Amino acid sequence: MTPTDEYDVIIIGAGVAGLHQLHSALQDGLRVRVIEAAEGVGGTWWWNRYPGCRFDTESYTYGYLFSEELYRDWRWSEHFAGQPETEAYLNFVADRLDLRRHMDLGCRVVHMSFDETSNTWSVRTDDGRTLVTQFVITAVGRLSIPQYPSIPGSEDYRGEIYHTGEWPHDPVKLEGRKVAVIGVGSSGIQVATAIAPEVGVLTVFQSTPNWCVPLHNTPIDDDEWNELLGRREEILAICNDSPSGTVHRATSLAAHDLTPNQRLQFYERLLEQPGFAKLFGNFTELTRDEEINAEFCSLLAANIRSRVKDPETAEKLIPTHGYGVRRPPHDDGYYEIFNQPNVRLVHLPTEPIMTMNSTGIVTEKDQYDVDVIIYATGFDAITGALERLDITAGGLSLKDEWADGPDTWLGLQSPGFPNLFFLNGPQSGGANMPRSIGPQVEFLSRLIRHVRNIGQQRVDVTRESAEAWTDHVLESISGTLAAKAMEGWAYGTNTPGKRVVFRSYGGGLAMYLKKLEASENGYWDGFVFSGSDIADRAAKVEVGS
Ligand code: NAP
Repeated sequence: MTPTDEYDVIIIGAGVAGLHQLHSALQDGLRVRVIEAAEGVGGTWWWNRYPGCRFDTESYTYGYLFSEELYRDWRWSEHFAGQPETEAYLNFVADRLDLRRHMDLGCRVVHMSFDETSNTWSVRTDDGRTLVTQFVITAVGRLSIPQYPSIPGSEDYRGEIYHTGEWPHDPVKLEGRKVAVIGVGSSGIQVATAIAPEVGVLTVFQSTPNWCVPLHNTPIDDDEWNELLGRREEILAICNDSPSGTVHRATSLAAHDLTPNQRLQFYERLLEQPGFAKLFGNFTELTRDEEINAEFCSLLAANIRSRVKDPETAEKLIPTHGYGVRRPPHDDGYYEIFNQPNVRLVHLPTEPIMTMNSTGIVTEKDQYDVDVIIYATGFDAITGALERLDITAGGLSLKDEWADGPDTWLGLQSPGFPNLFFLNGPQSGGANMPRSIGPQVEFLSRLIRHVRNIGQQRVDVTRESAEAWTDHVLESISGTLAAKAMEGWAYGTNTPGKRVVFRSYGGGLAMYLKKLEASENGYWDGFVFSGSDIADRAAKVEVGS
């Protein structure tokens, strides 16, 4: 490596999105480099290696379905694979597509600025290099900046501290020890369930209880796998044609056409189904109709009461928000851990944490001595990682521009930041991330090809198109119970000081794909191309000098 390297494309991140975009750029013969902060590939699946971490979308719908070879040559062992298997899969992809030699691992981007004269980005890395590139594609993840709560006295604590989103690669000894898990989102309930049988004492600190429904994970046997092998294109089409990007579809039954008893039978059958069937296979009314949502929640509450022996603990575990208002976790025996003598629940709304001291956590009511604290306290989501890249262009800082919330066209580009694209960024995405990332990769690859084919150097998006997309994003969730509640990481309420605004996309995958298609068919509607005179100007300077 020389101190300055020149590329056509720099991709930031070697997770699901970065690997796919790298492969696509190499296919197009571009000079491309991936910069990745982790020492290995896998993104989310490299960092989140806590015990119990696993999929809750079907494994076979998650991978790189664009390639028959990758699909056929990887055998998923379970319907919802665990983290080690998913990380192994992403390593298999990196090797099979010969991607590793195009990456700088263990290297972090610390600043990026756009040069208006050359229409290139200067990308500064923490190893002191400056890379120059025409295009930058960020693939930094939506949930990649772990949040640590600021608890008074935490500096005095002498035990071990871990975050689920930054779990160490060296083994963490938990057996027989006193462990606290703080946070009961998807990560918290997975880690608590996994470690409860082995730890000495487990204390779960719960701020907002979550509606956990059974995952119903099972192995994929050879017969089913052989059947799945012939269905790659069909599975891709099913996912692409759904709002969630999964194999689950809302029922065509209208909730109010059924009697309460018929609805109860429907819910009971739903609870027997795997994964996201409970949310995405439910009545369409579930996400908008308070009465229907409350009816489903009362069944879930009964389910919690039947699984937790101590009635007081059961009541504390029952949420007050509607199902699907926050992203619901899927469990594999979570509620049952509270029947174990070594597991206790601290309900923070009635027993807040006051301080930490050298031996543990002090609440308003008690002192909890612990050897290990596991923060499952979530992430500065969606925009957090992008804002930390310290991106500037034309005197604008992306972080300042997004202070009141992100504005993008199609979730892919923000006005005033030419030649900079986001994969799985704000105002895009949805449930099954790889299913929306894949079309974004293919779209951006065609867009970059187009810029080069027409002899331009620069592509930007208009303020009008970004405003229109922001309106569409907000419209896509209007009337939903989630939009009324405005809670959780998609809104930024979990990050102190963050503006509360919806940062994801609620229109669903099928709708999103139509929007991408409409832009491309409309001669890249929303994008503006320029910069073709640069070569001429350079030539004139040379002639004149
Ligand atoms: P999360 O959903 O944001 O949950 C964070 C938890 O920490 C919440 O219970 C929150 O309570 C609590 N918390 C935050 N600060 C706290 C504090 N100071 N004191 C006490 N509690 C505090 O984060 P996550 O569980 O890591 O999940 C994030 C997302 O990652 C999920 O929604 C999902 O999309 C994805 N994920 C998926 C899977 C999977 O199964 N595929 C697994 C893990 C994660 P409050 O809400 O009351 O603040």
